[in-house]
Amino acid sequence: MIEARIFNLERFALDDGPGIRTIVFLQGCPLHCPWCSNPESQPFAGGYMRSVSDIMDEVERDKGYYDASGGGVTFSGGECLAQPQALLALVKEAKSRGIQTALETTVSASQDTILKLLPYVDLWLIDIKHTDAESLKKTTGLDFEFYSRNIDLIDPEKIVLRRPCIPGFNMETKQFEDAFNFALNKGIRRMDLIPFHTLGAEKYRRMGKEYPYGHVPSLDKKTLESFKDLGISIGIDTRIL
Ligand code: SF4
Repeated sequence: MIEARIFNLERFALDDGPGIRTIVFLQGCPLHCPWCSNPESQPFAGGYMRSVSDIMDEVERDKGYYDASGGGVTFSGGECLAQPQALLALVKEAKSRGIQTALETTVSASQDTILKLLPYVDLWLIDIKHTDAESLKKTTGLDFEFYSRNIDLIDPEKIVLRRPCIPGFNMETKQFEDAFNFALNKGIRRMDLIPFHTLGAEKYRRMGKEYPYGHVPSLDKKTLESFKDLGISIGIDTRIL
């Protein structure tokens, strides 16, 4: 019996892929983004174990809604690719039950892991935090070359890039431009802009952890309108989530 370590399962979600979806949050993340709104997801030892079949039984309960709305299941995190065996079993099981699959990820995993997942994943929702290798590495721990090579393994038509828009990190026009051009060069047609929010602040307080972004106000979606227009002018279907 294969088990996954998860920390949450959310039904009737609308933002992480098309249609009505169930989001399964896998525990553990190798990165350390200081704005992270799910700090409880980072340690690999947290969360709880649940069998793949048990998780998928719960996911399958809403299959009628998925079929009617073009939805399905999204595996998120933490970093869902950090549990490669469990994730592979989950997406295989989803496909065998006729459920559409999406991953929400930073593609922070071996090439072998990604290649094995490819046949069972309908949509890759991939974070693009920064295209400057030094800033990305220093702030989040992610290696840009490694990230970029992993993206090349995936059919660009199956990728939506998601750009968290973080004050003091990636809000300059040139940084948006670089992200849109990165997408264009990879043949990726869509990018979602996600405004920074402070919804995770309470979690840090409860965990007794300092929140490095505690003093930064949430971003108004209107702030991103001009960047959305910039993306569209570059040829990327850009939306604000
Ligand atoms: S990749 Fe996501 S889950 Fe991991 S630290 Fe960054 S924001 Fe948090």
